[in-house]
Amino acid sequence: MSDAVLEAIDVSKHFTVTGAVGRSATVRAVEGASIRLVPGRVTAVVGESGSGKTTLARMLARFYEPTSGEILLDGRPVATGRNVDKAYRKAVQLIFQDPFGSLNPLHRVRHNLDRALRLHQSATTRGEREQQMIDLLERVSLSPARDFLDKFPHELSGGQRQRVVIARALAVKPRVLLGDEPISMLDVSIRLEMLNLLNRLCREDGLAMLYITHDIASARYLCDDIVVMYAGQMVEAGPKDEVISRPQHPYTKLLVESSPDPHRATNLDRDELFGTADDLGEPPSLIEPPEGCRFHPRCPFAMERCRTETPPRTVQPDGHWADCWLHEVGRSDLIADTAMTAPTPLTSTEEPA
Ligand code: SF4
Repeated sequence: MSDAVLEAIDVSKHFTVTGAVGRSATVRAVEGASIRLVPGRVTAVVGESGSGKTTLARMLARFYEPTSGEILLDGRPVATGRNVDKAYRKAVQLIFQDPFGSLNPLHRVRHNLDRALRLHQSATTRGEREQQMIDLLERVSLSPARDFLDKFPHELSGGQRQRVVIARALAVKPRVLLGDEPISMLDVSIRLEMLNLLNRLCREDGLAMLYITHDIASARYLCDDIVVMYAGQMVEAGPKDEVISRPQHPYTKLLVESSPDPHRATNLDRDELFGTADDLGEPPSLIEPPEGCRFHPRCPFAMERCRTETPPRTVQPDGHWADCWLHEVGRSDLIADTAMTAPTPLTSTEEPA
């Protein structure tokens, strides 16, 4: 029996887009992604814009149906399409990036919370719901709670609005919380408070939490496990300290080195690391992704086989894995030993020297 409450197995999501001249194309937003969310653990999905992390969260929330693959709740496949039931919506809650867009601006906090309580807890009286709303606001540190109940969203700061959004998600007693960049639109000064709040709620309620972010530093602070996505694919995953201290994929190494770290002698410039549009520094098109390893146009270690063959997965005993040919050819030491710089692909036709 799986200990995961929510699990995605080999899910893909393709979108069909139509251009200005009427030609359609397929965007391969996510391909072959698998993830397990376990009670009491926070799993981060880290990657650049367009890496597919938000699409993955929306598949888990059942806002998008996977093109292929399967999503399991408590080990059982979830019904597809319109048959997704109320129980799934109650069990799995998604917190969006923009707290203002998540709340109905025409209604007070009271209405936003009460609606969630009425939809999912039909047996409660008005007085009981009032007390539950107060308890919820106090749990997310909005105090005195009664003062906040009658405020409109525009009367709250960004951080207060996001706390109300989290309180509303908690109102239905979820088992899984999916946070899609939940702190990225907040002032830097309150991001840490919000991470601490999410961490506390996860541990207190035994929630399984997915934390989507482009910021590996916040993932390191909040999470137990980290999954790295690049161009729609998962490329590395494992316990957070392992992934950050000993990255096994060159892209993860770039992410780690581009994150500010006061203990590192030289903090590298993000543009220097990822390059510019002129030197193949942009993420690849998801309509025609590169063959072989999708990271090869930007990888300083790219070999001939990287351009044509999908890299195999190398799994370590602690579950830390990466998809990179360097492990297969016995040169994973290059990842640890090389400070990543602007892409300078090797010219050799096979293994690096
Ligand atoms: Fe991809 Fe090859 Fe670079 Fe590994 S070495 S990340 S397989 S391009």
